[in-house]
Amino acid sequence: MPRPGELVFEAPARGRPPRHLLDLDPAARREAVAALGVPAYRADQVSRHWLGRLSNDPAEWTDLPAEQRSTIAEALLPPLLTPVRSIDCDAGTTVKTVWRLHDGALVESVLMRYPADTPVAPGLAVLPPRPRRGRVTMCISSQAGCGMNCPFCATGQAGLTRNLSAAEIAEQVVAGARALARGEITGGPGRVSNVVFMGMGEPLANYSAVVSALRRIVEPAPSGLGISARGVTVSTVGLVPRMRQLADEGLPVTLAVSLHAPDDALRDTLVPINTRYKVAEVLDAAWGYADRTHRRVSIEYALIKDINDQAWRADLLADLLVGRLVHVNLIPLNPTPGSKWTASRPEDERAFVRTLERRGVPVTVRDTRGREIDGACGQLAATSA
Ligand code: SAH
Repeated sequence: MPRPGELVFEAPARGRPPRHLLDLDPAARREAVAALGVPAYRADQVSRHWLGRLSNDPAEWTDLPAEQRSTIAEALLPPLLTPVRSIDCDAGTTVKTVWRLHDGALVESVLMRYPADTPVAPGLAVLPPRPRRGRVTMCISSQAGCGMNCPFCATGQAGLTRNLSAAEIAEQVVAGARALARGEITGGPGRVSNVVFMGMGEPLANYSAVVSALRRIVEPAPSGLGISARGVTVSTVGLVPRMRQLADEGLPVTLAVSLHAPDDALRDTLVPINTRYKVAEVLDAAWGYADRTHRRVSIEYALIKDINDQAWRADLLADLLVGRLVHVNLIPLNPTPGSKWTASRPEDERAFVRTLERRGVPVTVRDTRGREIDGACGQLAATSA
């Protein structure tokens, strides 16, 4: 058992989740189907139903003989995620779901729907703002719990239970996409446009499952869901070797780095992995990622009152980031049980934003959703109560 305060990289070994279609790439699926005595090409047909049409009902797969449907479904489509409960807020446009996995472990995912901007009536505005299309972001978990032990995050406080399999990760997105397609989310039928690995867990500590889940999310059907890689963000505490490895996967997803402090002295306490990988090394790996993928790196910075929100720290942060392919995402600290910290005063938040803007560093304050349902950043603790 890890001692309190210890960082945990190796997830405890537990019974593996049953093998699932989404753990496999298309070639491996064909092999698995052939091994069941069913023609290999049936794997592609079932994949199209599951991932393209989002149908989980074999009765609808009428292009296959009925007994082949049930053979494949029984062997390769075991239920991985059982909904324990769903709660919503924002008039039903933010929905948090608690899932039970095969071994009783609990994880959470959050679906957030943002309406399109009201279109400007033609001819009325001289320079109409570009209308933003509606979008749906799914925030998903990559581990049950987390071993990174950040003191302001509720997930970190409970420790690491286990890594999720690729299919357990990808199925969170499939479940959300299915609910949307069926019109079960306020706002009518829709599609998932964005996926963020900002739920429970440190994605880069579960590297190979996360990379195969990413392929299932971005590759087009029958391989995957076909969500644009531009809409997918992997958030990390800064596991430097894994950041460098991800840059070479040919997956142009956005990398977000949870920095939270520009100086090692403070970051050592807020993000304990900093005792191993320092601010300068983490940022160096981030710039390597930007060079390789041409994607703007996102820097996450939770503003904590009187801890990391001083004017001098804003200036120091700007020194580190100015001139880089970067965007700063400030997150007002969300409350977590037992934490002595709170969000910054509004005037300190404004001053922090102004300093970065003055120095030419792109910055936005995250429109945090789901605080009232413990579904916001750092609040996911997955209790079934
Ligand atoms: N382990 C990954 C992804 C999970 S968290 C990571 O740390 O990046 C997604 C973001 O929420 C991270 O930037 C995390 O630091 C931040 N976060 C955690 N607890 C928070 C809290 N109480 N308030 C605001 N943001 C928080």
